[in-house]
Amino acid sequence: MDALISRIKQDGTVLGEDILKVDSFLTHQVDPVLMRQIGRAFAQRFEASGITKVVTIEASGNVPAAYVAEELGVPMIFAKKAKNVTMNDELLTAEVYSFTKKITSVVQISRKFLSAQDKVLIIDDFLANGQAALGLIDILKAAGAEIAGVGIVIEKSFQSGRSLVEDTGIPVISLARIAGFEQGQVIFREADL
Ligand code: 5GP
Repeated sequence: MDALISRIKQDGTVLGEDILKVDSFLTHQVDPVLMRQIGRAFAQRFEASGITKVVTIEASGNVPAAYVAEELGVPMIFAKKAKNVTMNDELLTAEVYSFTKKITSVVQISRKFLSAQDKVLIIDDFLANGQAALGLIDILKAAGAEIAGVGIVIEKSFQSGRSLVEDTGIPVISLARIAGFEQGQVIFREADL
């Protein structure tokens, strides 16, 4: 997606070996115009797939996922990382190791929001080693839901996430694909949309 790639070139910052900071438009401050374009791109790709729910993990997946869900006209569910007293329904859970926080947390979705009749599109801001996506896939499989695809805003193709997800038979659709970082510059490869 050209607008996204231009924005990463303009405002993205490479941190260390393998982290891209995009907090001025995606992960902290949000550009709603770009988010709407992201929502439309995924919605066009999946409009004929009969999606009934969009699912992500809090926190930074929430924004793109909500825009995709709005375009598709379906609810968005975000897996929660902390249980609170209002979560008194049956929960579906998975353990997820966070690439950026370096901790494992249990993520959970209330059983009542998912069923075997659901066809789900998973959306996340980044794909690195695939742990967030694989955790969501586990939860969705436990609910008996069908998974139409994993939609990623920024995929770091030099990490293992894409192949781990594709090994489950679920397609990965990424709006920007990063081949690597060289001297603080982002090297892109051809994206899926
Ligand atoms: P994975 O589970 O695929 O290893 O990592 C994906 C999650 O880690 C994303 O939900 C995102 O929050 C975070 N993440 C992974 N790599 C990056 C990165 O380079 N930059 C930022 N801002 N977040 C990342």
